[in-house]
Amino acid sequence: MEQKLVCDTVKDLLPLYVDHLTSEASNESIDAHLAECADCRTALTQMTEQVEVEAAPEVENFKKYLYKSKWSIFYWVMGSLAIIAIITCFIVNIAVEQRLSWSLIVLGGIITAYLPVYVAIEAENHKFIKAVAVLNGCVFGLLLLIQAVVYGVMGIGSMWIWRIGLPIALLWSAVVWVSILCHVCFQWNPMLALSVLCFLAVPANGLTNWLVGDYHSMADFTDNFVVNGLGDLMIGVVFLIIGLVFQMKRGKAQKERV
Ligand SMILES: [Zn+2]
Repeated sequence: MEQKLVCDTVKDLLPLYVDHLTSEASNESIDAHLAECADCRTALTQMTEQVEVEAAPEVENFKKYLYKSKWSIFYWVMGSLAIIAIITCFIVNIAVEQRLSWSLIVLGGIITAYLPVYVAIEAENHKFIKAVAVLNGCVFGLLLLIQAVVYGVMGIGSMWIWRIGLPIALLWSAVVWVSILCHVCFQWNPMLALSVLCFLAVPANGLTNWLVGDYHSMADFTDNFVVNGLGDLMIGVVFLIIGLVFQMKRGKAQKERV
């Protein structure tokens, strides 16, 4: 009966004990009791575990906040620099040409570089894929802007956007998105997805050169393949091997767990 009373008293004190709010004398008595009583030791372990679990989300949130604020500072510094650059361009552009032309392209370029980073920082999930999607959209916008400014405003060159600009942009977007879909839909690891990207880059490179009008003979075709295609192929094979090794290791680990 007396033992039970001691245990109850100790258990009542444990929350204070865990938080280091008990006096030196109480600590000594509690320590002495814990050394002998398994029941109270279990109660203490459960209590400390609970405290850790409760503290974890706050610590996680704080870490997230620190991580985000670190990126936010970077983001705002880069943003301020970008705004200064754009304003300088606008002023010089108007002073020199009495109209806005190439500063619009600078603005488009900065938005293209800046927006994907912003999305990557702010997105809650699928950061990378969302950032790539935004970058993809921005590249199309930038191409249209360059065509409009260079040809429309400055009267330089021709309408290359439909013939070359958009086809090439669409071609390379397809290469990137097929690789990303392999990763998202088939759960292929990033290395395998990268190998898909490299392999698709070989025909994409050939098509790009054909669209630009670089092929005048069979020799041009083989030259381009040796310069670009072979490199892509070799890098693709390296990624493929690394990816397959990862995939096999993961498969093994899953089997062992089962
Ligand atoms: Zn006890």
